[in-house]
Amino acid sequence: DLGSSLRGTLDNLRGKSRISEEDIQDIVKEIQRSLLQADVDVSLVQELSDNIKTRALEEEPPGGTSPRDWVLRIVYEELVDLVGESTELPLEEQTIMLAGLQGSGKTTTAAKMAWWFSKKGLRPAVIQTDTFRPGAYDQAKQMAERAEVEFYGEPDSDDPVQIARDGLEATADADVQIVDTAGRHALEDDLIEELEQIDRTVEPDHSLLVLDAAIGQGAKDQAQKFDEAIAEGVDGVVITKLDGTAKGGGALAAVNETDSTIAFLGAGETVKDIERFEPSGFISRLLGMGDLKQLTERVERAMEETGAEDEDWDPEDMLEGQFTLKDMRKQMETMNKMGPLDQVMDMIPGLGGGLMDQLPDDAMDVTQERMRDFEVVMDSMTEEELENPRVVGQSRTERIAKGSGKPEERIRELLQQHKQMEQMLKQFQGMGDGDMERMMQQ
Ligand code: GDP
Ligand code: MG
Repeated sequence: DLGSSLRGTLDNLRGKSRISEEDIQDIVKEIQRSLLQADVDVSLVQELSDNIKTRALEEEPPGGTSPRDWVLRIVYEELVDLVGESTELPLEEQTIMLAGLQGSGKTTTAAKMAWWFSKKGLRPAVIQTDTFRPGAYDQAKQMAERAEVEFYGEPDSDDPVQIARDGLEATADADVQIVDTAGRHALEDDLIEELEQIDRTVEPDHSLLVLDAAIGQGAKDQAQKFDEAIAEGVDGVVITKLDGTAKGGGALAAVNETDSTIAFLGAGETVKDIERFEPSGFISRLLGMGDLKQLTERVERAMEETGAEDEDWDPEDMLEGQFTLKDMRKQMETMNKMGPLDQVMDMIPGLGGGLMDQLPDDAMDVTQERMRDFEVVMDSMTEEELENPRVVGQSRTERIAKGSGKPEERIRELLQQHKQMEQMLKQFQGMGDGDMERMMQQ
């Protein structure tokens, strides 16, 4: 398959001390083939190719990085740039409107997203405003029941705007109100008019454009029309039916056109078949390369070794300023790669050896199983709670427990563990610079 020939091309660079223009040409050609096959718009592919070529030829690898690793990093960075980051959807009260053509998967996505938010401990409601498609009410109601979420619709009404208005009022207690809209087979003026009216009534915090993975050249035009109809514009895309053969690359033209990002991926007909968009997984899928993660980890490792700047978690950062749950999470993720915390601390100049022995053993005792639980718990926490765990009191603990499906005890353990690590780091911070330097010279 295409993925393996790209990997072959990349592997051919192993051990080369210089990468020629021809080498880069070969890589770019392989990537182009994969992306075009995945329906990515030709001009986007061209832009990506140009960027990779320019950077690979002009930028110097940082000292100690092999040319191959450097090219890999450029390729990966440019691919992430192409697919974009995940749409930010803070776990807080919000109204989300879904738009898209008939059959794109809006109603299914509404129920899936409601299910997703409910797993995060929030209370979602689905409001169905489709009066166009026969059976739309029953379908939406049934899916909401499967997702076990609140539902509002009016089976006998033919006024979508009124349904939206009533629905928002009727479900005012919900945290996340998801407004499903009608579609048409093709872009028609009445569809756009109806959407405009619903949009002005609902005033959604987020408007997501739902696209079938099989969408091809039509994506750009469609996206532009929807973007114009919605007052605040489309600010996220959902790609559905990724369980089929289509890779969803066509949707990238819509992302580009609306200057937005991808929020969710749908891959199946049940309410659970939804995942948050994540660049590296999507890139792997586009290129048909299963082990892109491994590839990028190698690049990361190379960057670590050279000390080149990296957005990733840096153990030394913990020694300055606040230690948040996010730091703790990064630390836990890093642990999987680098080894346990005490070893990580050993890697920081000046913190090795004897100091670690003075710490209580259980300060470092996060078993794999507990770590996994903690990850799930943190997935159900808001940005605010992750930045400042002190705000988590009893009622938030209950919400997080419900969302994560973990006992309240586990949430308290996480907070306790965080506190311990924080105290430990304070101890290190207490040491003056002079102490550090002296230790480093030893
Ligand atoms: P809407 O017209 O935009 O509301 O689209 P629907 O939600 O009614 O979906 C249209 C059809 O696509 C239905 O038969 C869904 O079951 C199916 N569908 C939606 N999302 C997915 C998906 O991710 N995978 C698969 N296989 N089918 C899907
Ligand atoms: Mg529908």
